[in-house]
Formats: sequence, C-alpha cells, structure tokens
Amino acid sequence: MPHSRYRTIEVAVPLPLDRTFHYSVPEALQRSIQPGVRVLVPFGRRKVTGYVLGSANAPAGELKDVIEILDAEPLFTTRELAFYRWIANYYLYPLGEVIKTALPTGINIESRRRTVTGDDGSTVIEEHFAGGGSIRRERFYRAAAEAADAAGIRGSGAAILLFLLENGETSRAKISQQFSNPSAPLKRLVERGLVTVEEREVYRDPFREDDCTVTPALDLNEHQATAFATIAAAVTAGEFSPFLLHGVTGSGKTEVYLHAIAHTLQHGKRALVLTPEIALTPQLVKRFRGRFSEGIAVLHSGLSLGERYDEWRRIRRGEVAIVIGARSALFAPLDNLGIIVVDEEHEASYKQSEGVTYNARDLALVRGKLEKAAVVLGTATPLITTFHAAQHGRIHYLHLPQRVRGLSLPETRIVDTRKLRGAAFSPELVAAIGENLAKGGQTLLFLNRRGFATFLLCRDCGHVFRCPNCSVTLTHHRAKQRHFCHYCDFSLPAPSVCPECSGTDIGLFGRGTERVEDEVKELFPDARVARMDSDTTTGRGGHARILKRLEEGAIDILIGTQMIAKGHDYPGVTLVGVVSADATLNIPDFRSAERTFQLVSQVMGRAGRGDAPGTVVIQGVSADHYALLRAASHDYEGFYAEEIAFREDAGYPPFAHLAMAVISGTAEKAVEKGAQDAARLFRAGRQALNIRAEILGPAPAPLAKVRGRFRWQIMLKARNRTELKRLLLHFQREWNPPRVLRTTLDVDPVDTL
Ligand code: ADP
Ligand code: ZN
Repeated sequence: MPHSRYRTIEVAVPLPLDRTFHYSVPEALQRSIQPGVRVLVPFGRRKVTGYVLGSANAPAGELKDVIEILDAEPLFTTRELAFYRWIANYYLYPLGEVIKTALPTGINIESRRRTVTGDDGSTVIEEHFAGGGSIRRERFYRAAAEAADAAGIRGSGAAILLFLLENGETSRAKISQQFSNPSAPLKRLVERGLVTVEEREVYRDPFREDDCTVTPALDLNEHQATAFATIAAAVTAGEFSPFLLHGVTGSGKTEVYLHAIAHTLQHGKRALVLTPEIALTPQLVKRFRGRFSEGIAVLHSGLSLGERYDEWRRIRRGEVAIVIGARSALFAPLDNLGIIVVDEEHEASYKQSEGVTYNARDLALVRGKLEKAAVVLGTATPLITTFHAAQHGRIHYLHLPQRVRGLSLPETRIVDTRKLRGAAFSPELVAAIGENLAKGGQTLLFLNRRGFATFLLCRDCGHVFRCPNCSVTLTHHRAKQRHFCHYCDFSLPAPSVCPECSGTDIGLFGRGTERVEDEVKELFPDARVARMDSDTTTGRGGHARILKRLEEGAIDILIGTQMIAKGHDYPGVTLVGVVSADATLNIPDFRSAERTFQLVSQVMGRAGRGDAPGTVVIQGVSADHYALLRAASHDYEGFYAEEIAFREDAGYPPFAHLAMAVISGTAEKAVEKGAQDAARLFRAGRQALNIRAEILGPAPAPLAKVRGRFRWQIMLKARNRTELKRLLLHFQREWNPPRVLRTTLDVDPVDTL
C-alpha cells in the first residue's frame, strides 16, 4: 500500500534528552521514508542516527533536512512503538534510548558488505559487523526440470547433474565435499540452463550442536489439565489475561507451557518464552526443540552480534513461531503474539541493571496487554508481590500442588552451624553424604560464594585486603593463584605480602565453592567431585559439559553456586546440601528473606526428582529464621503470611512503590554534597507538589564504592504511583548537578545495594 508522503517527521535520537525532534524531508526522500526506519540527521554540529516515529505537524521551513535514510524496511511496527513509548514513560528514559535498547545491537553498527572468495573457491558475499559477527551468503544449486532429457554432458558435469537430480537442492559447500574442482563443470551446467543457482543468506543455528530427540506430549494430570484448559481458553478468546502458575519444582509446569504453546500455534498465533539465563537451561530448549517442528529462535548470551541479528531478522520475517530467550528476548519482533511465558518469574535477573532499567517480567504483562495475549508467570516460589496480586484477583491463580508421578518432596533437616567453629560440614551433613555415596546417589552441595577464601587478613598487623576500587574485600582464588575483586577487574598475585607491615603470614578466612570442593575431596577421597560456578564454566557450552557428566552419572558430588539451583532435572540426585544459607540472609536488602526462601527452595527442588526419595540438609547460623523454616517444610503460604506482614509493617512493596536515586562520582566529597542537594530537591518537590512520599537518605549505598566511583543513594517510597511519578519528573526537570556526577533513577529497583 503506497503511503502518503512525509514532508516533516518526528525523530527520536538515542541521547539522554527527554524529547523528540522534528526534521524536514527533502523531496527526493519523501517517497521512501516511513515510520520505523532509521535516518541520519544533523544534530548540533554532529550527525546522529535517529528513529522515525511518524509525520510531524510542523512548518518545514524552519527545520533541518534529513541527510539519509538508512533502512529500506521499518525496524519496528506502530504497535512496538507504543510499547517503547510506554517503557520510556514508565522508566523515565528517553524514547530514542529505549528503541536502541530494544533493537539488536548488530543493527546499530554500520554494516559493510564485501565479496570474498570462499574456502572452496566459490564467491561468497559477507556482511561484516564491527562486533565480529557476519551473515554468510551461500549458493545453492538445483537441477532444472528438463535436465533429465539433456544429453551431451560427460564426466564430472554428468556426475554432478545426477547427484543434484537425486539429492535436490544442494549447497555449494556440500557439492565441494563430494566432487573435486566442481566450479568449472557447475558453471557450464548453469550456462546451459541445466542447473539453477540461487544465492541466499545462511543463518547459523545457535543450538545446532545439540541433538534433539523427539519428546511426545505427555497426558496431563488433573491439576495440569485444569491449568492448561484455563490458559487455552484465554488464548482462544484473544484477550489479555495474566496467570500465575504456581507449582512446586517438578510439578509439571513446563509441560503445561508446552501444551499451552501447542494450542497457541494451532490458533495461528506465536509464542514468546522468557527464561532467566538460557545458558543454564539447555534442557528447556531441548524439550521445545523435541516437541515442535515449527521454527524456534533461541536468543542467548553466547551469540555473537551477527548471530543475534540473524535471529532477529528470522523473527521479523515471520519465519519463527516460538522465541525462547533471556530478558532482552522480550523485545523479539514477533507479531501475532498469543502467549508469553515467564519461567521462574521470581528471578531478579529479569531486571536490567544498566541503561534502561526495565524489568522483563513486569514488561511481559505490559506487552501482553498491548498484544491481547495470555501471560503465564510460572514459579515454585512466586514473588510476594505476584502472590499478593493473585490473592486480590488481579492475576488468575493456577496451582499445581503436587509433584508429577506421585513423587514426594524431599525430607529436610536444618542444622545450626554456630557450634561448628568454622568447619564447613556438620556431622549430619557428612553422614548424609556418606550414606548417599554408599547407595550410589548423587549429591549437590550449594554455596552462593565462589573462590577459595572470601576474607584475607594479615595475621601480623590485622590488615584486611580490600579492593582499591570497590568497597569489598578481595577473594582468594587458589587455582588462579590470585586475590580477586568480584566487582571490578582488580586482582593481586598470591601469595602476597601485607602492604601495611610487609608481613607474609596472610590468613585465608571465609569459604567459597573452591574451598568446599577441596574439603569434600579430603573427606571423600574416592568420590568423583566436580564444581560448577562462573570460574569453571567459561566458554561456550561450559555449563552443558558439566551437566552432561552429571546426567551420565560420571559425577558423585557436584558443588556449585546458584547455577546448580536452576531448572535442572536429574533423577540421580538424591541429596542436596546447603553449605551455608547465611550468605543471602545477611544481605542488607528488604528482600533478603524472600531471596533466601526462593534460593533454598529452588536448590531443595533438585533433590528426589527420580524414583528414589530425596533428602535435604540446610546449614546456617540463623537456623530458626522463618525463611529457612518455611522453606524446609515446603510451606510457601506460611512464608508468604509472615513476609507480607513484615512488608505491610515496614511499608515495602506491595504496600508501597519504590524508586531509587543513585548519585555517583570519583570525588567522594562532591558525591556526598550532590546527594544532599538531590535529597533537598526531592523534599522541596514533595512540599511544592503536595505529594505523599517517604524520602529516605541520602546515605552511602551499602556498596559504597564500585570501580572507583563513590555511591550515595536516596530511596523514595509512595503508596500512590502517580504521585511518585510526579515527584520523579519534577526532580528530573529541576536537577542540574555538576558534570562530574552521574545520577541514575531506578523505578521499581530490585537491588538496593
Ligand atoms: P517443572 O517445570 O514444574 O519443574 P516439568 O514440567 O519439568 O516440571 O516436569 C518434571 C518432570 O515430570 C519432567 O521429567 C516431565 O517430563 C515429567 N512430567 C511432567 N508432566 C508429566 C505428566 N503429566 N505425566 C508424566 N510425566 C510428566
Ligand atoms: Zn573492585
């Protein structure tokens, strides 16, 4: 459909400015410009890339001209633009930057096409991106229909023709594997019209290495069937409906997703599946690949820019029915969306911590509303706020109260470690591991701290080794023979001398997974022990390798950080030990109890998924904390009741909306003064606008310094979101800090450190 000419347009630029700009379009470009394409425009003395939002009602005479149109096809639809606008408005972020965040990075980098000679002598056109990825174009050959009648072709030409007749369309690369020097005969075949050739872009399949066995749909049990029927009805109706699918680990949530998605595809609609970190859930992807023959795109952090862009374009062209990915997959350009699944909806990793601080779990609901889709939030441990919404009827509640196949939940004991005097293992846990080994079961040991020792102290003068750039202690990593900061790239060689007294007697205190591995090996010398944390899983497929060995029974004891807590379903695991539950409980954040309950429940969920029942031993100095007691007795509702009372008392979500302002900079005094000025501005705004909000601070952040920047924060709490928003907007307009300071406003922070 030819669209009307655009003489003047509205453009969003990816710069920290909370407004859009108008440009006039030169006559020659008027026919090819449309909303959703990028344009090069003059901006001050620079040229910047902007996004065309639509036509503008402005007199062209006073406007500057668009220099160039950068895309032939729009990058986003009007519906996606409405979504971007919502995000910009909600998170108080410039629209241009939101659009930039939503589009794949590969697109923002100038592409350069060139023709190269392939390994086999063929001509290949490659598009190169600065990020290193590239799209390959390959040639495909096919015997023409009348080829069979052809005569007079001999030798290798005839052999190739025969091969193509038998095999159908074949890529150049494959032909080269079969025949030596096929170029000249192929050329002759093409010239004579006996073979046709087509050049096509080739997508790399990110999960191509994985085998996928067909996984037929299972007959749902009664609870699953009810949940499925409710979701399916919503998909059929084509109305926005939010669901909480609350099911203990192993209750068959994923099977419900699969059925609901199959139903969605039958209705000609598409599906989006968000998962906290896809590298940790290869089994999930396998199950989808094994179930659906339709196109699936998998977006994950291991993809190069080029690969990501490949996937994005496959989705945009409608070649994909299901998209699976982490946080940023929320922006996948799927149209006709029927369902969005947010797996493990409680995970904090759905929140983007830099740039536009969006929360993909929250935005899934927003997108679902715009697209009239069903949104399924699945978890064994719902966020307190989600469960509250379900209790008040704002989200439909679906419950899977039992594990499938009548499996029981693991038997759990809590052990108070106050009397252990620093030893890693209580006699109870040691006995449990021994017994489990004896009967051939596998054990998972969980500790949410990596490295060997987490606290280094000079025994001569008491000096504590700290990072010079961050307000944290260094962690000793024995395998790497260095002390590392876990917040920046600082490290010191080990052994090192004390910088204060030159003493060499450095005490290694605290315990990370590396040390636990050591201690386990000492206690159980015959056991096959492995460790899974970000130190042992670097490189592509790092996690998958370890999990494969676990699956094959080549590991007796696996030690790990929260990586081992996620979604794995290994029937051989019959014992789970939480080495110390204190690490997460002691974090100074109002969600620390909730996080601990979630994490401990998740790890516990790994036990007893096979036919043998499971056992769990939880160690901690706060053995009587309600988060541990309730987790141990599989009592989500009991935990909820205690936690919601605390939230109401203290005025935290869901009883208040939060926003956090963080002022940072390299000069400590300037940061402190800036934070005081900012807090004063907030208080003045509150008074002037007559807003009911609590303003806490300014105070140094719990992480008072990171990468050389000092950090102060101000927390805002309000019962009314609109009022909070007005206050934040007022602040944004009036705040004019010195250039050396950086100010970030985080709406709905999930991390208050
Ligand atoms: P969750 O996602 O809640 O942890 P899953 O969907 O992964 O649960 O199911 C756990 C295990 O039970 C999987 O191995 C799955 O194949 C199996 N399962 C799920 N639903 C059924 C069912 N209705 N009948 C038999 N087995 C099932
Ligand atoms: Zn540091």
